[in-house]
Amino acid sequence: RRAEFVAMRDLPSVTADGQRVELMVNAGLREDAQALDMVGADGIGLFRTEFQFLVSATLPQREKQQRLYKDVLDAAGDRPVIFRTVDIGGDKALPYMQREDDEHEDNPAMGWRALRLALDRDGLMKAQARALLEAAAGKILYVMFPMVSEPWEYEEARALVEHQREWLLARKKKLPIAVRYGAMLEVPALAEVLDILLPRVDFLSIGTNDLTQFLFAADRAHPKLAERYDWLSIAILRFLDRVVRTCQAHSVPVGVCGEMGGRTLEAMALIGLGIRRLSITPASVGPVKAMIRAIDASEVQALMRDLLDGGERDIRARLTQWAEDRH
Ligand code: PEP
Ligand code: MG
Repeated sequence: RRAEFVAMRDLPSVTADGQRVELMVNAGLREDAQALDMVGADGIGLFRTEFQFLVSATLPQREKQQRLYKDVLDAAGDRPVIFRTVDIGGDKALPYMQREDDEHEDNPAMGWRALRLALDRDGLMKAQARALLEAAAGKILYVMFPMVSEPWEYEEARALVEHQREWLLARKKKLPIAVRYGAMLEVPALAEVLDILLPRVDFLSIGTNDLTQFLFAADRAHPKLAERYDWLSIAILRFLDRVVRTCQAHSVPVGVCGEMGGRTLEAMALIGLGIRRLSITPASVGPVKAMIRAIDASEVQALMRDLLDGGERDIRARLTQWAEDRH
């Protein structure tokens, strides 16, 4: 099967009925960019910038950040790289960042992390914004914000980056030819205000790892809960279905960048909901592309509609059966 996936590398990611599905990879290290060529992906759909902060003994300075972003962009060439601003804090605590006593957290995943922390400590965010803008000079810069819970947080983060852009512009620095802004949907509350958020974003990326943990109130890392809630549960799929349709109504591109998309059956279900962009772990690109090339998107879409409308309890079993019957 390995040879099969190597052969898959240069084939287009298109369903049997001609629907193009963008396959991007999740990355976080300089070396990860090489995976793009190895697996034949369309770009980096999630670059976790906090990795550099986590592996560093001291706070990475702006120049150091900029070098990393530039290297990744160079390796990606014409392919897009979506940089996610730092998702630190909570359980991804940095040893060199001083915490005060009142910062103890019982629930770090729901705590002072990601955009929440970045907006409060905006020096960090400003430095990162400048590093990204300068690294992407002459290219399109894609930037997205993690753990957006309310539209105004996105607005504030975007304004902060825009302010840095104007600052650089005033100093005649070379800038990106365009900046495209996205929000991650991983806090369920955001789904209720998409009508407010979507007109303001260029794209939406669904982080199913955190989203499912918050939808089911089940710790994503808890071994006793790992098997309990299925990504193919009707609650998650109905939730995603609604989000996808709202994005379509607003003509905003929507993708999935959680681990869910890297599993073939789950990826098939997502395509059945209308998702046309997945960002997944590089090792999954071959298997998922093979699945994409084998299915009829319109058939999967009709099947998903039946299962969701019918309130099917075991969607995993039904999808498995369906796939086995056809192939
Ligand atoms: C997610 O939450 O689904 C996600 C992609 O972000 P991370 O796994 O880095 O929290
Ligand atoms: Mg997340």
